[in-house]
Amino acid sequence: MKVLKFGGTSVANAQNILLVEKIVKKESSENRVVVVVSALSGVTDGLISAAESASAKNENYSETIKTLEEKHLEFVKNLLPITEQSSWLSFVKKNFNDIEDICNGIYVLGEFTPRIKDKITAYGEFLSSNIIAAKLKSDGLDCVWLDSRNYIKTNSNFTDAKVDFEKTNANFQNYFKENKQQVTLAPGFIASDVDGNITTLGRGGSDYTASIIAAAVNAKELQIWTDVSGMMTADPRLVSNAKIIHKISYQEAMELSHFGAKVIYPPTIQPIMDKNIDLWIKNTFAADDFGTLISHTKTENDNNVAVGISNLSKVALLTLEGSGMIGIPGVSAKLFQCLSQEKINVILITQSSSEHSITVAINESDVEKAEKALNYAFEDDLKLHKIDPVKVEKSLAIIALVGENMKSR
Ligand code: ADP
Ligand code: ASP
Ligand code: MG
Repeated sequence: MKVLKFGGTSVANAQNILLVEKIVKKESSENRVVVVVSALSGVTDGLISAAESASAKNENYSETIKTLEEKHLEFVKNLLPITEQSSWLSFVKKNFNDIEDICNGIYVLGEFTPRIKDKITAYGEFLSSNIIAAKLKSDGLDCVWLDSRNYIKTNSNFTDAKVDFEKTNANFQNYFKENKQQVTLAPGFIASDVDGNITTLGRGGSDYTASIIAAAVNAKELQIWTDVSGMMTADPRLVSNAKIIHKISYQEAMELSHFGAKVIYPPTIQPIMDKNIDLWIKNTFAADDFGTLISHTKTENDNNVAVGISNLSKVALLTLEGSGMIGIPGVSAKLFQCLSQEKINVILITQSSSEHSITVAINESDVEKAEKALNYAFEDDLKLHKIDPVKVEKSLAIIALVGENMKSR
């Protein structure tokens, strides 16, 4: 079995679906495949923007929803034969009525919670996957649509839910024991918690869905089809002479993505690395290009010190310092416990050898929450002047030079 994931641009319109279909036909002629798809390009952002407008009492949200509905209606009309269109056009309209109802609720209440955010963004992948599955079936492929929400089980940390791998793996293994279709098509990004509430795996999470499924079924390989011909030495939008990396290790790819290489969602590597499953990054629009192979093997050019550079912007540094920190155990434990309680992700840590200070990098959007929580947690030490108030530096970026050979230099 192979798992193939197609991102937002790959499924942006009917024309692109023909490219996707060609790839799926070729792969499924040799192996059973699971195809994971994202929402049509721009739809997740559009749904969030509609809901945010509604919660800000801006009536424009109806317009945004209309535009998204129109996009999906066009998609159906350009993709499916006339005889099959009417039921899918009704399907799209019904779902957009539901989206409008939810936004009306947000407008009235002025409340847009993470739970509602997941409920609303889930429509993107729900719609795209159903329509694309209909197209493949209509063209005679042995294809079935699988609702990822019933198989990927998570905690209730809405918008960035954590996967319960034990349940999830068992769900997929049981499913594929019974069901033998040549093509199984599933929405990326979406899952559900124990109470059946819809959850999502974080922005860019369709890559992760594909990896979770690949690991659960012990797939032969995972292919992530996108709009560039592989993982590159730097972000091609910022560096015009960035080069494709043909082979890279799991660790290096993980580092590059953690520090901002958007081509793979950072948690994607872990599940397949544990199972030693090869990951290919391929270009839907240039399917014959080699792409990037991510595996246990090190990079092709062993003499290079670095394989790539990546960057993360909108980063803030928090520094905790003070004479009272020296030799007192537990300061860093308290710092990290406090950040973890607030669900704040730490990107980078440095500590001076004198133990006089400790600095962490976090997303700028978390900075107010972190500052408040830390000053509260260290209130007593602050009063006793053992520790200074948390120092905050904003508008920073992290640039990471990544490569396994760096460690010996
Ligand atoms: P998809 O919708 O297929 O998931 P994404 O937009 O999430 O695609 O990721 C692909 C994009 O990632 C590319 O179009 C490219 O601009 C960007 N990107 C950033 N850093 C890198 C990198 N190091 N290598 C390749 N692409 C990168
Ligand atoms: N549609 C989701 C997003 O835009 C997930 C994905 O595309 O990977 O974040
Ligand atoms: Mg992506």
